[in-house]
Formats: sequence, C-alpha cells, structure tokens
Amino acid sequence: MTGRILDGKATAQAVREDVAARVARLVEAGVQPGLTVVLVGEDPASQVYVRNKDRAATAAGFRVDTLRLPADTPQADLLAHVERLNADDAVHGILVQLPLPGGLDADQVVRALDPRKDVDGLHPENVAALVTGSEGLVPCTPAGCIEVLDRHDIPLEGRHVVVVGRSMLVGKPLAQLALARNATVTICHSRTTDLADHCRRADVLVAAVGRAKLVQGDWVREGATVLDVGINRGDDGKLVGDVDLEAARERAAWITPVPGGIGPMTIAMLLANTATAAARQAGVSEGEEAAARR
Ligand code: NAP
Repeated sequence: MTGRILDGKATAQAVREDVAARVARLVEAGVQPGLTVVLVGEDPASQVYVRNKDRAATAAGFRVDTLRLPADTPQADLLAHVERLNADDAVHGILVQLPLPGGLDADQVVRALDPRKDVDGLHPENVAALVTGSEGLVPCTPAGCIEVLDRHDIPLEGRHVVVVGRSMLVGKPLAQLALARNATVTICHSRTTDLADHCRRADVLVAAVGRAKLVQGDWVREGATVLDVGINRGDDGKLVGDVDLEAARERAAWITPVPGGIGPMTIAMLLANTATAAARQAGVSEGEEAAARR
C-alpha cells in the first residue's frame, strides 16, 4: 500500500476560505474581528511563526496588531500589556508567542489572559472546558489534527488512537478531542515501554514528540492513518517530522507530510478560533454550522 498524502496545505486553505467568509459576515454585522500577537524577544523561529500568523490573519480579513517587546521586558510590564489587551473591546484574540525568553513566567502570562480571548486555548479555563466538554477555545494544533481528519471523512469513533507525546500544547488536548469523538485513546511518552508495540496497534497514530523519524515504517499498522505533528531539522537542514514518511507510507492508508501537513492546519485553526472568539464576544450567532465545528 502507498498511503495517500493528507494535504495539510490544501486543507488549511479551505479552512482559511471558510474563516474569511465568517469574518466577512461578522464585518457585515458590524464587528471587525481583531487579533493581537505578542512577540517578546528576537527568537528567529518565533519571528517566522509570528510573520506567518500575521499574514494569514490579515488575508482572512482580521485586523492584526503585532506587539513587539524586547527580550528584557519585565514580567510585570508583560502582564500589564495583557491586562490592557484584555480590556480592549477591539481585540478579540490575544496570542502570546511561546516560548518566552528566559526569566519570564509563561504560565503566569497565560493565566492572566482573558480566557475568551485565549485563541491558543491554553488558559486553565479552556483546558477545563475541553475536559468537561463545555464551550471554550481548543489549542490550534490538536484542533488542526481533528479538522484534517474531518475534512477527509476519516472517522474516529470506535477506533484506536495512539498519541505519542503528552504536552499541554499537543498530546493531551488531542487525546481529549479524540476521546470526545468516541475513540479509544492510548497516550505514550518518554517513559513508555514498548513504544513500537503501542504504535502498531493504532488505527490512527499521532506523533507529537520532536524527534526526527522516531516513528519507523514498521511501527505503522497496515491501513492506519498517521498524523505527523513533529517539526525537526534534519542533518541536511531540511524540515522533517517525527515519522519516517517514506517508510510509513508503505503501510499507512493516509499520512500527513512535513512540511505541508499539520503546520498549515495549526495556523488555519488559529484563525478559526479568533473568528469564534470574536463572534462570542460580540454576541453574534454564527448558526448551527459553526456551532457544530466546536
Ligand atoms: P514537548 O512539549 O517537548 O513534548 C514532547 C513530548 O514527547 C513529551 O510528552 C515527551 O514525553 C515525549 N517524548 C519525548 N521523547 C520521547 C520518546 N523517545 N518516546 C516517546 N515520547 C517521547 O513538545 P510539543 O510542544 O508537544 O511538540 C512536539 C513536536 O511537535 C515538536 O517537534 C514541535 O516542534 C512540534 N509542533 C508542531 C506544531 C505544528 O504546528 N505542526 C505545533 C506545535 C508543536 P515526557 O512528557 O515524558 O517528557
């Protein structure tokens, strides 16, 4: 079997077009959705991510501000900026680009966000909403994983989902989302014994670790769906995922590539979250179709 590529770029484009239509409807209703991205310091990777988010959000019709702060910004000043943005009705989404420079307490900053504006879905209230199944905002990368499956009619109900990685950003929320879709979920991590065996039992295998080609081809069950969240630099400087793509493709039915898989979906879901946040804050109903997406 040669697995079909789950094209995250094309799927993300479709999501972005849907979001642009939602933004247009909000603008018609008198609401200009606004996103503020907070970038502290000069980390080159963060600068690229922020630039990409700014471009994508602007193209979808959002008003986007990027607040650039020096790496030596005191914690109290950063918190004061967050408070100001929380209180600004023109700002519906606040994204603090992580990681923050050393010396700053990211956890405290995330907790200071108005949960309704926390478009990264990391505030404890949003984490609790995900676990309890109530209304909140879902972290963008796991939301992107589910969206790419949905848009390819790949079901989760009754299937065995194995998530490798248990971070608050990807692994744990993805496991919750899969559980909410009635999957049977196994979460693996650095202390898991027999990782390969767990992976071989997956109908849907998600790798979110950050180790190039950790998941080998023969760890993939015949006909499985593989989502590769990892972003690593190979020896040749090119981006590679956590999965040995070519070998895994021999057995998988569907597989996301790196680059061009979950990465673009993550940005698309940030836009979707920001549209959702704006509609909720402005009290604009987006109808059943939008509600079903959450
Ligand atoms: P993280 O916070 O470093 O978490 C990594 C997880 O992998 C941890 O739970 C860790 O286990 C587990 N792990 C480490 N080594 C392992 C091993 N040998 N076997 C099994 N599990 C192992 O990373 P993250 O933020 O979740 O990100 C994971 C990857 O996804 C990174 O490459 C990151 O760049 C990428 N990422 C991509 C996107 C995107 O848009 N595509 C977004 C976010 C992240 P312990 O908990 O036991 O330490």
